[in-house]
Amino acid sequence: MKIDRLPNHDLTNGWTNILEQRQSSPPLTTDIRVDMLVIGAGAAGLAAARRAAEIHPNRTVALVEAGRLGDGASARNSGFVIDLPHNVGADLDDLDTLKRSLRLARAARKHLDEMVTINNIECQWSRQGQLMGARSQSGEKVLDAFIKGLDLLGETYSEMDGGAVHARTGMTYYRRAIHTPGTVLMQPAALVRGLGESLPKNVSFYENTPVLEIDYGSKVIAITKGGKITADRCILAVNGFAPFLGHLKRKIFTIQAFASMTRALTDDEQAALGNPADWGLVPAMAFGGPTMRYTMDKRLVMRSFWGKRQSDVVRSVEYRRSRDLQLRQIRDRFPMIQGDPIVDTWTGQLGLASNFAPGFGKVRENVWSAMIQNGVGMTKGTMSGMLAADALNGINSQLLEDITAMGVPGKLPPQPILSMGIWAKVKWWEWSQRAER
Ligand SMILES: Cc1cc2nc3c(=O)[nH]c(=O)nc-3n(C[C@H](O)[C@H](O)[C@H](O)COP(=O)(O)OP(=O)(O)OC[C@H]3O[C@@H](n4cnc5c(N)ncnc54)[C@H](O)[C@@H]3O)c2cc1C
Repeated sequence: MKIDRLPNHDLTNGWTNILEQRQSSPPLTTDIRVDMLVIGAGAAGLAAARRAAEIHPNRTVALVEAGRLGDGASARNSGFVIDLPHNVGADLDDLDTLKRSLRLARAARKHLDEMVTINNIECQWSRQGQLMGARSQSGEKVLDAFIKGLDLLGETYSEMDGGAVHARTGMTYYRRAIHTPGTVLMQPAALVRGLGESLPKNVSFYENTPVLEIDYGSKVIAITKGGKITADRCILAVNGFAPFLGHLKRKIFTIQAFASMTRALTDDEQAALGNPADWGLVPAMAFGGPTMRYTMDKRLVMRSFWGKRQSDVVRSVEYRRSRDLQLRQIRDRFPMIQGDPIVDTWTGQLGLASNFAPGFGKVRENVWSAMIQNGVGMTKGTMSGMLAADALNGINSQLLEDITAMGVPGKLPPQPILSMGIWAKVKWWEWSQRAER
C-alpha cells in the first residue's frame, strides 16, 4: 500500500536548537534484506530497535526514520519521564490497571536510567521528581483525589502549601502542590540523540528515509526513495501516522501540543526566584494550566495550547496564539523576568485512544504495533517498543502480560464527526479548567 501522508517536522524545536549541530546517519541508498525492520525513531522505535538487536546480536535490524533523529514528538516534549499515571485519582476502582501501569512505567524509567548511565548520555537527567500544582479550588479537588489514589497504591509523596511551592520554584501562583519523587526530568532532544547514537552495532539506522510504500506478507517489504527493505519481521512505531501504514484506523486520534522555551534566565532573575534547583510542574487539571520546566541550564519551558492540524510545522497563526498564551503564563507566574524571554515556540504530535488503551499488539504474525502512548510516550513508548521486540521473539514476561491486559483502543466515530467531537471536548476542558490558566 502507498503511504499517502508523511511527517513534516520543522526546525522550531527549542530543545534541538540549543544542542550542537550533528551529522545525520545517511539515508538508505540501496536494497537491503534484514531480520527486523523498525519504522519510526521516537522513544518507541529506538527502544524496539535496541531490544531486537540485543535479543539476537547476530541478526540484522534496520531502523528507518522519515526525518532526522530527534525531529519527532519524542524530542519535542516537556521532558518528564513519568512513572505515575496522570489519572491515579480518577480510576480508583481499577487498582489492578493502575498497578500494571506503574510496573510498566517504572521498568521503562529503569531502562532509560541505565541507558543514560551506560552510554554517558548528557541530557540533564535529573531525579527531582515532579510537582502537581493547583491554583483553584477545583484544582485542589483533583489533588485530593490524586492523594487518595496514592494512598491506596501505597505510593510516597509530600504535600506542599503555597509557601513551600514558592520556596521550591520561585512562584507564588499556586495554592498547593504534591511532590511525587519517581519522575525523572531530562532534555528530550539530547536524550533521543544519545539513544540513537548508542544503538547496538547490528542496528543499521537510516535517517531522512521515509517509508513510501509498504506490503505486508510472509516478508514485509518497505519501499523508500533510495531502496527497498525486505524484512522477516517489522515493528511499527510511527505514532499518529499509524493509519497511513494501514493500522489503527478509527482507533487513534491525534492532537498537537505546543511549547515555548525561554533564554537562560539572568543571574538577577535566578536570584529573584530564590536560585532553585531545576524542577518540573504539571497542572492538576491537564487542559487548564501549563506544564512547566525550569531546566538545569536555567530556562523555562511552558507547554500549553492545542492544535488539531496533523503537522509539526508551526503556522504563523498558531505560533502567535501559542506564544502569546505562554508569554502571559510566564508573566503571571514570574513577574521578576524582564522583557520577552521566549526564544522558540514549537509543536509536536500526541497519539491518543478514546479509552487511553495502548495501541500495542499483533498486527499480523510478523508485524507488531508499538503506538498510541496517550501523552506519556517517554515511558509508555519505550516500554511498548521493548515489549513489541520481545513479543515478536516469543519472549513472555509479567510486563508483556501487563501491557496486554491494558486493553485495546476503543473504536472512534468517522470523520468529520471525530474531529468536531474532539475539538469540542478540548475547548470545553480548556474553558472549564480556566481557573488554572
Ligand atoms: C509538547 C509536548 C509535550 C509532551 N510532554 C511529554 C512529557 O513530558 N513526557 C512524556 O512522556 N510524553 C510527553 N509528550 C508525549 C510524547 O512526546 C509522545 O507520546 C512520544 O514522543 C511518542 O513517541 P513515539 O515513539 O510513539 O512517536 P514519535 O516520537 O512521534 O516517533 C514516531 C516517528 O515515526 C516517524 N515516521 C512517521 N511516519 C513515517 C514513515 N512513513 N517512515 C518513516 N518514519 C516515519 C516520525 O518522523 C517520528 O519521528 C509530549 C508531547 C508533546 C508534543
